[in-house]
Amino acid sequence: MPHILDGSRFWCQGYSEPGSGSDLASLRTAAVREGDDFVVNGQKIWTTQAHIADWIFCLVRTSAEGKPQEGISFLLIDMKTPGIEVKPIYSIDGDHHLNEVYFTDVRVPVKNLVGNENEGWTYAKYLLGHERAGIAGTDIIVNGLANLKTVHDYLSETAGDSYQADAFAKRHAELSVRYESLQMLENRALFAEEGSGDSLILPLPMKTLGTELQQDMGDLAYDMLGADSTVLFSADFEPTVGDNEPNYRATAPNHTHAMLFNRASTIFGGTTEVQKGIMSKFVLGL
Ligand SMILES: Cc1cc2nc3c(=O)[nH]c(=O)nc-3n(C[C@H](O)[C@H](O)[C@H](O)COP(=O)(O)OP(=O)(O)OC[C@H]3O[C@@H](n4cnc5c(N)ncnc54)[C@H](O)[C@@H]3O)c2cc1C
Repeated sequence: MPHILDGSRFWCQGYSEPGSGSDLASLRTAAVREGDDFVVNGQKIWTTQAHIADWIFCLVRTSAEGKPQEGISFLLIDMKTPGIEVKPIYSIDGDHHLNEVYFTDVRVPVKNLVGNENEGWTYAKYLLGHERAGIAGTDIIVNGLANLKTVHDYLSETAGDSYQADAFAKRHAELSVRYESLQMLENRALFAEEGSGDSLILPLPMKTLGTELQQDMGDLAYDMLGADSTVLFSADFEPTVGDNEPNYRATAPNHTHAMLFNRASTIFGGTTEVQKGIMSKFVLGL
């Protein structure tokens, strides 16, 4: 934990596999006990920043007995372990965030098992709740709404009569109202008792509403700017660092880039369709 807090050790998340995304419990990467080690074989995919990560926290199959969820364990694996190969996937925004990670006879000490064997699904579900609340991205939205102000200023100065300021203001107002309702949900989640129904369920609508809002904000800038969206930089753009260092940045380099990357926000951390399915079952009882 201290290394995570001070940023000196960078982690990636090894859950998804080809064929096991929404249906994560079907995952097949196998960890077989041999003495004091697990021997891991299989493949992960869409692993964000695996190419720069020091460690990966991984869901692995340790048993084929019972329900698929009951045979999954949570392993911590040093990315320098022999037998790990990382291959890049370039996404639609042109960046390299994503990877495939292959494991061939990777030996992982049993002491790197988190909690109990075959109970990894429970830990992963708990973490996913926090991840989804984070992906809702209220901070990103605050930045985005401020960025839209710079778009407005730019168009007011440069576009003359062709700039439809009223249409922009109407869409901006609608986004601001949606942001306020998201903030209320976030406050409810923050004050919810740990382990209560609210604490487990609220991240789902937060993720769904927040990511749709992020996409709609990006689309507004893109629609209004047209071709200029490829060159107009976000107001608080921070230049990225090299490909081999952590390159999360507060904002995208331009509005086209942001619009393209935002396509993924309703997919990662669990797709909107699947979140809505869970909500309709557990909240509405459908
Ligand atoms: C940018 C990005 C970063 C990511 N980072 C990571 C990471 O670091 N680590 C990691 O482990 N994973 C990561 N992922 C993977 C992500 O979690 C999966 O992409 C996601 O869970 C969806 O799985 P899938 O891609 O296999 O799509 P599928 O599950 O095949 O879904 C395809 C389509 O079918 C729909 N669908 C599937 N099941 C249902 C259902 N039951 N009801 C209704 N609709 C359904 C989905 O909504 C979707 O539209 C990342 C993905 C992206 C795009």
